[in-house]
Amino acid sequence: MFADLHVHIGRSENGKPIKITAARSLNFANIAKECSDRKGIQIVGIIDCASPYVIEDIENFLKTGEAYEIKDGGIIYKEKVCIILGSEIETSEINDNGKTGSAHNLCYFPSLADIKAFSKEMTKYIHNITLSSQRASISAYELVDIVEKFNGILIPAHAFTPHKSFYGNCTSRLERIFKEKFNKIFAIELGLSSDTYLADQISELETRTFVTNSDAHSLPKIAREYNKVLLEDISFKELVKALKNEDGRKIVTNYGLDPKLGKYHRTYCEKCDRPIEGEPPIKECPYCHGDNITMGVYDRIVEIRDKKESKSPKNRPPYVYQVPLTFIPGLGSKTIDKLLNTFETEMTILHKLSEDDIEAVVGEKVAKTIISARNGNVTIQSGGGGVYGKLSVD
Ligand SMILES: [Zn+2]
Ligand SMILES: [Zn+2]
Repeated sequence: MFADLHVHIGRSENGKPIKITAARSLNFANIAKECSDRKGIQIVGIIDCASPYVIEDIENFLKTGEAYEIKDGGIIYKEKVCIILGSEIETSEINDNGKTGSAHNLCYFPSLADIKAFSKEMTKYIHNITLSSQRASISAYELVDIVEKFNGILIPAHAFTPHKSFYGNCTSRLERIFKEKFNKIFAIELGLSSDTYLADQISELETRTFVTNSDAHSLPKIAREYNKVLLEDISFKELVKALKNEDGRKIVTNYGLDPKLGKYHRTYCEKCDRPIEGEPPIKECPYCHGDNITMGVYDRIVEIRDKKESKSPKNRPPYVYQVPLTFIPGLGSKTIDKLLNTFETEMTILHKLSEDDIEAVVGEKVAKTIISARNGNVTIQSGGGGVYGKLSVD
């Protein structure tokens, strides 16, 4: 099965904003449909389900009969997709320097009743519970217990990004944050600007599962990163087993961007308005010598790593780079629609189809680029400071 566990909601069905920066068309029903019809995703984590407006949408969606809850957790849509109900919470931390830090946490729950109860509990700590990824007045150390109380699990989100993450903004070791509860954190999300090989330079992560998710703010971006998972069936219970590596369930492959394509791969000078290449970690701009920088994920990992080289544990699944259609130069949304209408899913196009088949629909030039990207014959200029990396064909 294929799983993307981090998809946002833009607006509720009645037009109320949930994640302001996300697309309007990104609502509960459309996400389910996009996963089943165009992306080939069988497990999708929707991360804004603690908003009372979204809860209302889910209740209405269940009434249509198109979807139903199952005993092992999750909502099944058209017998094809299992929707996992989640909530992204920003916690308040004290960072290694004694200052305030903030980190995003992905919390997932088995049933609508559980996430409803979680949502109600969190109104004690969050001002505006209707909006996505709001800051809570508690730390992740405290949040773990609340999540557990409602039968959920907690995964640190995009663990290395500069502004809202544990390693990027709060600490060099998760164990300092979670203390004796660190054994409850059995997986971390890598984020678009890092990959397995970068993350495996931190020894405390050797026993943790890595997940690769899209953090999609629009429908086309769903599954730009995803996980191939070995499961008996699609449910919350089975997913948790896979994340814990239990009973033969596991993540088989992580599919993700080359981290250079991510928005925060390298350090970016805000004053000079440019990403800075060169030997990491870069903590000061070599051009203006200022420190008004946004530190890159790569730079940060080099700064905090405790292993000289990246050596993954034996059971670590491979990380396969993919260049999503939206990153292919010269490929607009109309042509993407044409491709998807002809070949059904983006995964088939990116990983399986022959150049001839693609060429028949989009022409020689775009077909060549898609195949070059598949084979890694492309040059990538690193992203940074919130700007994606850029791809050009060799
Ligand atoms: Zn986030
Ligand atoms: Zn500068």
